[in-house]
Amino acid sequence: MVLIYSNNKKLTLEMIAKGRELADEQDGEVIVAMIDEKDENLANEYISHGADKVFLVESGVENFKAEEYTDIMANMVNDVESGPVLIGSNKYGKELASRLAAKLSTGCVIDCTDIYMEDGELTVERMVYNGNAISVERFSGRPGIITVPSKLFDPLKKDEGRSGEVIEKSYDVSSSYSNIAGIEEMPSEGVDVEAANIIVSCGRGFKNREDLHLAEELADALKGKVIGCSRPISADLKWLSEDHWIGLSGHKVKPSLYFAIGISGQIQHIAGIRDSGIIVAINKDPNALIFDSADYGIVGDLYEVLPKLTDAIKKEMD
Ligand SMILES: Cc1cc2nc3c(=O)[nH]c(=O)nc-3n(C[C@H](O)[C@H](O)[C@H](O)COP(=O)(O)OP(=O)(O)OC[C@H]3O[C@@H](n4cnc5c(N)ncnc54)[C@H](O)[C@@H]3O)c2cc1C
Repeated sequence: MVLIYSNNKKLTLEMIAKGRELADEQDGEVIVAMIDEKDENLANEYISHGADKVFLVESGVENFKAEEYTDIMANMVNDVESGPVLIGSNKYGKELASRLAAKLSTGCVIDCTDIYMEDGELTVERMVYNGNAISVERFSGRPGIITVPSKLFDPLKKDEGRSGEVIEKSYDVSSSYSNIAGIEEMPSEGVDVEAANIIVSCGRGFKNREDLHLAEELADALKGKVIGCSRPISADLKWLSEDHWIGLSGHKVKPSLYFAIGISGQIQHIAGIRDSGIIVAINKDPNALIFDSADYGIVGDLYEVLPKLTDAIKKEMD
């Protein structure tokens, strides 16, 4: 039995694909938990993409709260005698996963890059030392709690003919001591770098915020329109919102084309772009680390290179 939970639909579909593989090896089922999302259409979509059962559960709280959600998931794990539990690796998922593991006195591995059975044991891989090594880890007990980042696995093709069960479940939830006093939304520009196919990313090589228009013009010429950035541009200088921030502590992206402009290529940035298709780097330092990860490199001053490159691409695209 493989149990899956995320509040993110795409990530849930991706985890169902991996869950299906694990479940098939053990003649087991894939069960998706939908908490506070009473949406039968979505539940059926999960089934047509590979789930066997979808459990609809109400938590009784207004917004995601780790304590209550942990109670629900712990009850569900015991109810279905779950093996691997795959949880979407976003802020909510990571909090839930670690609490769930503590509650069930079992192991938890965060941000796995692969999951498989080896010698009958649940085995996972994850990056360590800032992406310089891969750690292969095995669970010695059940269930194994695993968080899965987005875009790691491709969803299975939709099969309208697949059948499964959508079941309403109810579990005891003990009242917790914490209260959500208020919710303040992070400033967001509505950019989704994780879904982008072409990203033009800016780093500290840009001298002023106003100069970012050079990257925007290139993105427009490429019909990409999505601007990414390194951490200092978002976290320190606040030139762009966190939606744009790419890397180890930012978003992990998987575009087919990634431009790294004025970005040095520190390992923490590379950790977020290593699954990109083609990486093009523009940097005035011929020894910049980014060139080690790039498929194409242009050594030059971005202020000279970008206008010419944008013009050339515009002509080509017309
Ligand atoms: C725990 C931790 C987590 C982190 N997470 C992230 C993360 O998620 N994402 C992230 O990006 N960073 C992250 N960092 C920071 C990371 O280590 C680097 O400091 C950061 O990526 C550097 O950003 P940068 O390349 O834009 O700037 P810099 O390192 O300052 O590089 C600027 C580059 O621009 C080039 N340049 C300068 N002028 C020009 C010009 N006119 N034309 C062309 N090139 C020019 C320079 O040669 C240089 O290579 C993290 C760090 C830590 C410790």
